[in-house]
Amino acid sequence: MSSAEAVTGAIARRGLMLVLSSPSGAGKTTISRRLLDQDDNLSLSVSVTTRPMRPGEVDGTDYFFIDRDRYDQLAAAGDLLEHAEVFGHFYGTPRSAVEAALAAGRDVLFDIDWQGTQQLKQAAREDLVSVFILPPSTAELERRLKARAEDPPEVIAGRMAKAADEISHWAEYDYIVVNHEIEASVAQVDAILRAERLRRERQTGLTGFVRGLSRKR
Ligand code: 5GP
Repeated sequence: MSSAEAVTGAIARRGLMLVLSSPSGAGKTTISRRLLDQDDNLSLSVSVTTRPMRPGEVDGTDYFFIDRDRYDQLAAAGDLLEHAEVFGHFYGTPRSAVEAALAAGRDVLFDIDWQGTQQLKQAAREDLVSVFILPPSTAELERRLKARAEDPPEVIAGRMAKAADEISHWAEYDYIVVNHEIEASVAQVDAILRAERLRRERQTGLTGFVRGLSRKR
């Protein structure tokens, strides 16, 4: 069985692009990892970035870490599906890996900001499903950012300031999940993914399938 068939039975389908956005610390990375672990038909779009690698990050798994010259080359060549400056660093989505996955009927998960989401919406509205993750409160957001301790305090303060800015874009998303509790949030995003896979227009093999059903025996 192909991976496309694993999701919709014998009916051919095309993959969808599931975007998760949130301010830093709202739980997006944890939710992404859980979804990727539990869903064999979902793969992560690994972005390029010019920001320095954090402890524990792996080149090619978390990001492709590149310098500014390489980033400019990729952007100029049209090799990035979307790209944006976030917190003073540059980020972008390599085009070819996404296109190959979608063509094979696989779904792709994107951990990108609102600017990238807007660009993807313009490029591929039909294939896009966007989810915004909100923190339960400002106090909880701050607590989670401090608990991470990966970044220096001035970076955390900067991200708190930017959180309000990112949150202001919530209404541009198809679905909103308030992350009170991680298990419940993972289940909610999983439910969104399962329902969106069944949308008529994504099941490209339906016409033939239904024709077969109506054929006189
Ligand atoms: P971080 O540096 O903490 O990994 O990510 C900072 C922000 O950049 C997050 O909001 C993340 O979603 C966003 N981001 C990561 N990769 C991309 C990308 O390829 N494109 C865009 N537009 N944003 C990205």
